[in-house]
Amino acid sequence: MSETASFPADATTISTSLHAAPAAGRRPFVEIDSWALKANWRSLAMASGRARTAAAVKADAYGLGVETTAKALFGAGCRDFFVAYAEEGASVREAMPGKNFRVFVLQGLDPQAAAICRRHRLIPVLSTPQDIATWQETAAGELPGVCALQLETGMNRLGLDEAEAKRAARLAAEGKLDLALVMSHLASADDRDGTQSQGQLERFQALTAHFPHVGRSLANSAGTFLDPSYHFDLTRPGIALYGGAASLDPDGSIRPVVTLKAHILQLRWAAKGQAVGYGASARLARRTRVATIGLGYADGLPRCLSGRGAEVFAAGRRAPILGRISMDLTTVDVTDIPEDDLAPGDTVEVFGPNIPIDETAERAGTIGYELLTSLGPRVSRNWR
Ligand SMILES: *Cc1c(COP(=O)(O)O)cnc(C)c1O
Repeated sequence: MSETASFPADATTISTSLHAAPAAGRRPFVEIDSWALKANWRSLAMASGRARTAAAVKADAYGLGVETTAKALFGAGCRDFFVAYAEEGASVREAMPGKNFRVFVLQGLDPQAAAICRRHRLIPVLSTPQDIATWQETAAGELPGVCALQLETGMNRLGLDEAEAKRAARLAAEGKLDLALVMSHLASADDRDGTQSQGQLERFQALTAHFPHVGRSLANSAGTFLDPSYHFDLTRPGIALYGGAASLDPDGSIRPVVTLKAHILQLRWAAKGQAVGYGASARLARRTRVATIGLGYADGLPRCLSGRGAEVFAAGRRAPILGRISMDLTTVDVTDIPEDDLAPGDTVEVFGPNIPIDETAERAGTIGYELLTSLGPRVSRNWR
């Protein structure tokens, strides 16, 4: 094949499946530790006591890749998965043909989503009277099939209010709704004060009394770490599986799962008084060794992290980000790292075991969830 013929073929591979492709050249990558992922699920299952433990794998499993994640979690023992959209649920089914597990679809449904749910045996979580009507009307003369209900307990986001819940309970009693689960979601389970959670717990107990024989679920990751009264029959952790919100775990058993790494593209000495990066926002107070790494806001490193004292981990030490993060590049002050310890092509850790993801998130004014789900398509996902 001639050079000109092979070039477009390569270009096509890269543009269509950047994030599935193996780490190529100097693209940034995440290392995903599937052993730690499974260990985290087992820790959460322990913390859940007698309740079953599901896994929230919406948004492509918080950016990591839903198929590989779901398979790993199934291997650890997980048999209940939560996604936002029916299409995401279909991906979980298709990842594990012939296997026995449940998939709940959180974001309600329209007729198309109902059809996908039926085709792939997904359980829609119905949050409005309209959702319930859609599930019944699209059943084409048959029983509508197994579904779940979301109840409003104080978050004012998605869920049936008390009158709507009672009506749904009547339909279930008449055999017109086949309920697998009633659930609600905690707004402030990570808040040590706990007043809002306690109120939601009481509301949930009152509302679910209308559904005496149906399984109940209330807790996300943070709720799983609260006392057992929050566990009910099924817990639904997400972020803690992926190594986030680790500080909420009283046992300290949540391990980092994701390490974001980027390559050093260039190293240079810059004189005192010079400026670095867009807008010359960093003016050098000393002669400074600058490492330019191949990672930017297009890859999910928030631009608002610039100038906030965030650090990366290079050659066994922390080094501060310098100046403004740009689309594809970030500059780092590596003056305090021995010159011989760094060379172009080396990788640095942006977050992971040495720089907790929650630390980076906090400096950016956000949460680990957003850092993970913002990882761009150029960041290859490397499973270990
Ligand atoms: C995302 C989500 C979860 C998981 O929450 P984490 O805080 O990531 O543990 C659980 N339940 C619902 C309804 C969700 O939307």
